[in-house]
Amino acid sequence: MIVAVIDVMKRFLCALSALMMMLFIGSCSRSAVPQMTGGDDDPKLTVHFIDVGEGDCTLLESDDEFVLIDAGERDYGEEVLRYIEDQGADELKYMIATHPHSDHVGGLRTVIDGMDTENFITVSCDSDTYTWEKLMRAVDRNSINMIEAEAGTTYSFGKASLTIMAPLSRDEENYNNLSVVTRVVCGDISFLIEADAERESEYEMVDAGETLSADVIRCGHHGSSDASSDKLLKAVNPAFGVASCGEGNEYGHPHRETVQKFETMGCPLLRTDEAGTIVAYTDGRNLRFEAEKTDLSSYTYTAGEEKHTAEKLKYIGNKNSLYFHYSDCDGAMDMKEKNKVYLDSRDDAVAQGYTPCPGCQP
Ligand SMILES: [Zn+2]
Ligand SMILES: [Zn+2]
Repeated sequence: MIVAVIDVMKRFLCALSALMMMLFIGSCSRSAVPQMTGGDDDPKLTVHFIDVGEGDCTLLESDDEFVLIDAGERDYGEEVLRYIEDQGADELKYMIATHPHSDHVGGLRTVIDGMDTENFITVSCDSDTYTWEKLMRAVDRNSINMIEAEAGTTYSFGKASLTIMAPLSRDEENYNNLSVVTRVVCGDISFLIEADAERESEYEMVDAGETLSADVIRCGHHGSSDASSDKLLKAVNPAFGVASCGEGNEYGHPHRETVQKFETMGCPLLRTDEAGTIVAYTDGRNLRFEAEKTDLSSYTYTAGEEKHTAEKLKYIGNKNSLYFHYSDCDGAMDMKEKNKVYLDSRDDAVAQGYTPCPGCQP
């Protein structure tokens, strides 16, 4: 009799511990990224760089108002939708579709169908891909307010705002340069989120003369050497870079040239292929990071802290022509090593009698 009772109890305890195990695993897989604990640095803006493999997806949150910029390939739509819901969102104030490529906008349709979206910001273009047409139809079907991205326009959400910085021209040959680039500001902390913008768009942004400085730059085109030009990095002068790319991706993103630039600047380059989802928290003055797979607790920044990192990117002069260039200008890349002179600053170059290259206009 007693043996039978103990046996029943044993079986009950076994079942109970199995159930607890399942609940534990379930809760772990639902929120891979730890939640903010609150306290002194109660965040006013949270920026989630969501890991969607070789793609792009950024969720902004301030005071329970949410903005989604891209959602990776179509296959990631469900995961992104669940992630947003896990943050307590039941609607998006703005959704931004940066440009028609599927690694950015493929997943957006699932989010639109699963969650109320108030406004949809994008660039009109002649793309006729299945992904783009289905997305446009979903926006239409759900009667979402459609806004054409226009550089210089600012939208606010919670205690933060975002300003459209690009596109400034319409390059329909290369959709990457149609990318909607946003500068997100909360108090004294700012982020530049580049999508797939490449050098041509970066140069236009710098030439436009608007404020581009940012503490965090989400590198253009997944850390490709087509983007993160010296000219842009000097205008932004970031304290941190973030590259969104898939583990072992076939394009080799982020490219070696980009990684080297961030090393030269002494600016940490955080990567979703290594860290998984990366989350930045700011109270408008202090900035800190958490990540799914790596410990980023040592990466902190306070507004006003000495940066001057981008100054370390040298200019390159040509001893024969006496022109000087940004290091990634074709004029510098094609130069014979014996003709190169490394120059610390623009002033230094001018003082030594060098003239700015008319192409990169350093
Ligand atoms: Zn693209
Ligand atoms: Zn892309």
